[in-house]
Parts: sequence; C-alpha cells; structure tokens
Amino acid sequence: MPKKTIIIGAGPAGLSCAYKLTEAEHSVEIFESSQQVGGLARSFDLWEQRVDCGPHRFFSQDKIVNDFFKEIIGDDYTMVNRLTSIYYNNKFFLYPLKPLNAFANLGPMVVFEILLSYFFQHIKSVKEPKTFEEWVTNRFGKKLFEIFFKNYSEKLWGIPCSKIDAEWAAQRIKKLSLWEAVKNAFLGDKQKKHKTLVDQFAYPKRGTGSLYEKMQERILENGGKINLNTPVKRILKDATGMANGVELLNGEKIPADVLVSTMPLTLMVKGLDNVPNEVVKACDKLYYRNTILVYLEIDHTDLFPDNWIYVHSPEVKHGRITNFRNWGPGLYGDKRTTILCLEYWCFEKDEIWTSEDRYISDLAKEEVQKLKLIPPAANILNSFVLRLPRCYPVYETGYGEHLSVIQNYVNSIPNLLAIGRYGAFKYNNQDHSILMGLLAAKEIITGSKEDLWNINTDSEYQEDANTIETGLDR
Ligand SMILES: Cc1cc2nc3c(=O)[nH]c(=O)nc-3n(C[C@H](O)[C@H](O)[C@H](O)COP(=O)(O)OP(=O)(O)OC[C@H]3O[C@@H](n4cnc5c(N)ncnc54)[C@H](O)[C@@H]3O)c2cc1C
Repeated sequence: MPKKTIIIGAGPAGLSCAYKLTEAEHSVEIFESSQQVGGLARSFDLWEQRVDCGPHRFFSQDKIVNDFFKEIIGDDYTMVNRLTSIYYNNKFFLYPLKPLNAFANLGPMVVFEILLSYFFQHIKSVKEPKTFEEWVTNRFGKKLFEIFFKNYSEKLWGIPCSKIDAEWAAQRIKKLSLWEAVKNAFLGDKQKKHKTLVDQFAYPKRGTGSLYEKMQERILENGGKINLNTPVKRILKDATGMANGVELLNGEKIPADVLVSTMPLTLMVKGLDNVPNEVVKACDKLYYRNTILVYLEIDHTDLFPDNWIYVHSPEVKHGRITNFRNWGPGLYGDKRTTILCLEYWCFEKDEIWTSEDRYISDLAKEEVQKLKLIPPAANILNSFVLRLPRCYPVYETGYGEHLSVIQNYVNSIPNLLAIGRYGAFKYNNQDHSILMGLLAAKEIITGSKEDLWNINTDSEYQEDANTIETGLDR
C-alpha cells in the first residue's frame, strides 16, 4: 500500500521529494510555514520587477539533478553569462580568482610577499589541517589567505577562521595549490571544463523560484496537498518510538506513515518526545547564521556589469551585492530601474538583527554610495528589508562530532528522514537539496537505503582549473 508522507517545508528539498512521491501515486501532504513555495530559493515581486533572495545560480555536475531541472523548467530558462568580482582595497578582482588578474591588481611588492609566504608555508605546512585557516594557508600561504579568505569568511561566519572547521574548506575549495594555479594560468590546463560549466549558468526566466512554482503546480496536479502559512510545531512519535504524524502550531494533529523534515534539524529533534540528554546537548552545540537582505531600487539601468560582487572590504558591513539587472529581462521587463540587493550576515543576538528596517536601509544606502557602486547623481527610489533566519549552518571546529550524535539518533527512527540545508545541517546549494529530496523519495518508494547525510560531503568543483576559489559561492 502506498504510504502517506508528510513533508515539512516547501523549499527545493521538500518539493523535489513531494514531486517524485506524487508521481509514484503516493499520498503526500506538505506543511509550509511561509506564504509561498521555494524556501530560500524563492522569487518574489518587488516594485513591479522580480527578485530572488540574493544571488541564486543553479549549477550541478550531477546528471540526475540536471535532468530533473530540465524536466521541470522545460524551455523557460536562459543561459546567463556569469561575471562576478571581489571588491577589495578599492579594486575589483575577477572571481574565481585568476592569478594573472589578481597579481596585476595587487602589484609586485604584494605578489612578492605572497610568493615568499607560500614558499615558507610549503616548508612547514600543517600535517593534518583542522581549521579553515590551516587548510587554506597550507595551500596558498598566509599572505594570500589574509587578503582573499580571512576578511570575507569572518564577515560571513562571524567567528575567526581559526574556529571554522577545515571540512568547510574541503567541501568548497578545490584541492589546488597556489603553484598549480599559477602554472595552469601560464601553461594552460588539460582538464579545462566545458565553457558553459564555468562562464555561464542556466537561469529560470522568471527567477530561480519559478522552478519551484512549477513543481508546486505539478504536485497539485498529481494529487499532492500543499498547505501554506501552516507551521509545524513538532513531529509526533508513537509508543514504539516511530514517527506517526505532526502537531501544527495551531494545535491540530495530522497522522502519517512517513515523515520528511526540512525544518531546522536542531529544532526538529528537540521538539520530539523523550530525546536523550546527550542528543539535546549536541543540538545546543550547533548553531546557525542569519542573513538580512536589503533591496534598493536605483533610477539607473547601467550600474556595473557583475551578477554579484563579493565585498571583502572591512570598512563596510555588507558582504555581497547582487545586481538583478544583469540576470535577464524576465526579471525587470520594461522597467527602467535597477534593483540591488545587499547581504548582511549576523547572529540572532546581534543588534542589527533586531534593528528597525529604517536603520538597516539607511546603512545599506550609505554603504552603496561609499563604494561608489552607484553614480553620485543616482537616486535611491525605494528600499526593502528581508530577514532570513538560520540560513547558514555554522561549521565551527568540532561540529561534526555533535552532528553525528544527532544523525545517529534520527537514524534510530526509521520512518523519519531529515533532509535539506538547515534540515540536515549541510551547507547545501539548491542542487544538493534537490538531490536529497529525490533520493529521500526513492528510499520511501522502493525501500532502498540512501546515504542522505552524505550528500554534499564529497568535494565537487565548479570552476576552471586555472582559477582559485575561496569557497564564496552559495
Ligand atoms: C543568500 C543566499 C544565496 C544563495 N545562493 C545560491 C546559489 O547561488 N545557488 C544555489 O544553488 N543555492 C544558493 N543558495 C542556497 C539555496 O537557497 C538553498 O540551498 C536551498 O534553498 C535549500 O533548500 P531546502 O529545501 O533545503 O531549504 P529551504 O530553502 O530553507 O526550505 C525550507 C523550507 O521549510 C520551511 N519551514 C521551516 N520550518 C518550518 C516549520 N516548522 N514548519 C513548516 N515549514 C517550515 C521554510 O519556510 C522553507 O520554505 C543561497 C542561499 C542564500 C541564503
């Protein structure tokens, strides 16, 4: 008998899972706390244009995911030329870093210091790097680490690089040394990937979220149920310890045979009955970073050519700025203005998180002018502040031990699957969350055992081999 599955969350992970389950004629009900589908990858209308939650480039090297993307989106996508830079020390550096461009921008003295520190590091490298700082310094030397990795990573994570787990670097940065990058830049690289994987990406014409709106339509057509504005309070268990339903925030209880959760892992686990003490303690050790997005509408159409810019400069608080004018006319239509989006990262306890929108907008307006990213004569017509709680699971050193305590506990409840970005405490891209959703559905439909926790653990590299990634994307 097909089972009834309840899915918590209508983001990429939850919807992909629901899509496959309903296709196989399983009974599925999704509960989503917000008013629309897409989660962090949703798109929405703003000032008669369409925007995403910061930049959302879809990319995957997995055939299953790419085929699924094509199946859903059909022809409703365009190929966008990717242009991204790092802003540091009043200069723009191409990102991913290209050694020749970076060296020309830095000047001979700094390049000499970079090479010297690289050779010094080569002699006394750390055997088993445990932190992000050690991992990066081993490969690129201290000086390059300080210029291109330290400031930005600390802005993003809010903790020193010496406390960020090396696993994050291993997941995000290809195993390439400075020497190899420089050699490839001069001599060419035999493994150079196809141009489209590096310089272009497929982008749904009506914003990244339109992919999920299409999934929503198909799930409904297939008989699935999607309840928006319906937050789940907790997952219920029966006397044998199996999951058997959810309790909604409004107190209603809904039974199910299988539970798929994409809500924050630690909140989901702590909401269960009779959770052992050591598991609760492990949950308390894991934490997330929040993002505040500030959208500004500028009365100009030609501000700068990048899709987005990483802002390393410590003199401003935001870390990235997206220019939605450079993603395709499907977003702006015939409007003659540009929407920029600035990202501020913070913890829940930080003052900025609870500051009034007016204060945060003023800060963004001041900063965008300070960086001279808009002409002095340009007018900022509108501003809008959006808060994204818990969107970055923090990989603090040692987090893996706490996470594995939680994973073991969740594994002891065989009809409960935890997937997704905060759902599995994995720094996922859309493609990883989609894959988790697809494989969770496979496990439910066929009874196979999928290694869901390990998706997005092996490194996969997106860029050209003569460039240096700093782990910035996503
Ligand atoms: C600023 C930013 C930029 C990004 N850039 C990229 C990029 O360029 N490329 C890329 O591929 N990815 C990017 N990502 C990552 C991408 O957005 C995520 O990987 C993806 O959205 C994760 O999908 P998910 O389903 O796992 O989680 P989410 O998208 O977080 O969805 C989870 C859903 O669960 C709902 N929910 C939570 N708690 C409850 C509850 N108690 N009850 C009911 N519902 C609940 C939430 O409302 C949400 O809709 C970016 C993310 C951010 C924040």
